[in-house]
Amino acid sequence: MDRIAPENWYQTKKIDDDVTHICEPYIKEFYRCNIWHVRGSQSDLLVDSGMGVVSLTDWVSIVTEKDIAAVASHTHFDHIGCHHEFKHCIVHSAEADLLANPTRESTLVEPYVTDDIFTQLPPQPYVSETYAVKKTSQAEIVEDGHVIDLGNRQFEVIHTPGHSPGGIALFEHKTGILFSGDLHYDGLLIEDTYHSNPSDYQNSMKRLLELPVNIVHGGHFASFGADRHRSLIRNWLDSKNH
Ligand SMILES: [Zn+2]
Ligand SMILES: [Zn+2]
Repeated sequence: MDRIAPENWYQTKKIDDDVTHICEPYIKEFYRCNIWHVRGSQSDLLVDSGMGVVSLTDWVSIVTEKDIAAVASHTHFDHIGCHHEFKHCIVHSAEADLLANPTRESTLVEPYVTDDIFTQLPPQPYVSETYAVKKTSQAEIVEDGHVIDLGNRQFEVIHTPGHSPGGIALFEHKTGILFSGDLHYDGLLIEDTYHSNPSDYQNSMKRLLELPVNIVHGGHFASFGADRHRSLIRNWLDSKNH
């Protein structure tokens, strides 16, 4: 399999004036995390940071323009690979230890990561057999209800355990933008990792159903609007109660 040059690893796409989608197109869609950048008047927000196989700060200039808060929606390998590059990281208390001391098992590198998750390999010296997420030495630990303030925009942290114990969603009341992590997206959901919890999952989904969302940017796959948000959750809840 060919290797991709680092300058071509990431793809960025502006969603609106202040929201940019960053992704790693040579990872197969199911494993490919959505990285979200939001520009604020005082500081910027990054939601997740990809696999970490190419430096985000070296190759994606938008993430270095301002002070930036790098949030971990949760600590699986596909979401926190570049967090160690950022001075200000944010993680929920239930996964703070995982961010500080990630292992191949705790971040789900085992059993997911092999060369088969790529259509083209990352640059040298990447090797799937020894790939691991680097430690993030210090992070701000947050709980449900914490507000991340970018100056002109505020995102409320909503604790959404279920996929993993410290999963968080971010909701901006003013615009109805929801970043939902891996709990809720428009594709096959993963409910059976070593630290998933079915009853937490249902409670978190019920909570997201109540939010007055306009657009949902998930941890994987395409974004969607309010109607799709409600029908995805209602169908999922129905499937659990039969
Ligand atoms: Zn995950
Ligand atoms: Zn994921």
